[in-house]
Amino acid sequence: MNSENSIDIPQFKIDTKYLRTLLDEMIEINSVVGDEKDLAILLAEELQKLGLAIQLEDVEANRPNIYAHHQFAQKGKTLTFNGHLDTVDVCEGWTFEPFIPIEKDGNLYGLGSADMKGGIACQIAAIKALVDSNESQIGTIHFSAVVDEEGYGKGGRKMINNPFFGKGKTDGIIIAEPLFGNTIASSLPLGMTGKVLYKITIKGLSAHAYRPVQGINAITDASKIVNVIENLGDSSKNENLGFTLLSDDDFGKGSFCILKIEGGYKKYSVVVPEHCEIILNRLTVPGETKESLNQDLEQLIEKLNLKSMVTIELVPPFYYPYKISEDHELFSSLKRAYKESMGEDPYTSYMRMITDANVFMGEGKIPTVHFGPKGNNLHSPNENVNVNSLEVCAKIYAQTYCIFQKKNK
Ligand SMILES: [Zn+2]
Repeated sequence: MNSENSIDIPQFKIDTKYLRTLLDEMIEINSVVGDEKDLAILLAEELQKLGLAIQLEDVEANRPNIYAHHQFAQKGKTLTFNGHLDTVDVCEGWTFEPFIPIEKDGNLYGLGSADMKGGIACQIAAIKALVDSNESQIGTIHFSAVVDEEGYGKGGRKMINNPFFGKGKTDGIIIAEPLFGNTIASSLPLGMTGKVLYKITIKGLSAHAYRPVQGINAITDASKIVNVIENLGDSSKNENLGFTLLSDDDFGKGSFCILKIEGGYKKYSVVVPEHCEIILNRLTVPGETKESLNQDLEQLIEKLNLKSMVTIELVPPFYYPYKISEDHELFSSLKRAYKESMGEDPYTSYMRMITDANVFMGEGKIPTVHFGPKGNNLHSPNENVNVNSLEVCAKIYAQTYCIFQKKNK
């Protein structure tokens, strides 16, 4: 039995010059989702130089995940440092160059500087500190960087099924998302909602548009579906539909957002539209299953008594919600390391968002936490990362590894 305070926490010297050079190089490489290979190769070379064994695994042609591992002399647990290689695409409004790292007023600008090249550079600097440290370390470090997190999460799914780095091969994962824990907005998640994407196909009947009563207008029926979904949050408007959203103690209720609607002619024609399609995004909470999510929407639409034929399909990606206990050995190790450097506990919260943790823990049941440097303007123009937060972030990673090794389950 070892109490929290009896664990002595090694002080690591982070090679900040190394960290910064690596991060600059990473920003210079375009790794917009779909184009992750060059960055994977850079990281593979870097980790090889640090003495780690490397494996690249193609998720799709030219889209490799990279895995690396290092085993210390003394047996212990395995902890995975993880990040995603891809960034979102360059959006409009950048006044800095997205692929040229520029530091200004203590922040380093560049696409992915925060989400999440900064965090990955910190993880690799932490691995360097662990490998270089004179103290003998315990256990095994895994590192993985995966493709497609900003897309469909294919890289994460490939990883949990990898025979050496996936389910059953690691005791926990720290994802380098830029959640620094020092504000409510950057809280360290104790769980995340899940998500489902629906394709709702509405099939009516075409007729001459001058005699609309002879047809069934798929767009008009689609609009009734849109309207009822829009009003789901307002119980006074839908109580007669008998639809109640499941409410979770920590997350509250899920939510709906129509992402896309498409119907009508491709080339101008005066015809009652026969076809319409709706893509609907829904955040889900624990207790909602694939079956229930299909069923409740089906029942809701049935009650509208539309003339069109409506079919509902769940289309990828599907993400399971998950929660991790604040007392879990991984979360509490991270919290302990955080307090050591920051002097206070991190903010924590249940978040309405999706990351690869939904794949790792929601689907793969591997305990997963998030922590990363302080970032600004994520998925927006002039994304940047706070330079001072990089060193402390790397140190917290290395210390979390050591505390985790010493903690009893
Ligand atoms: Zn991210």
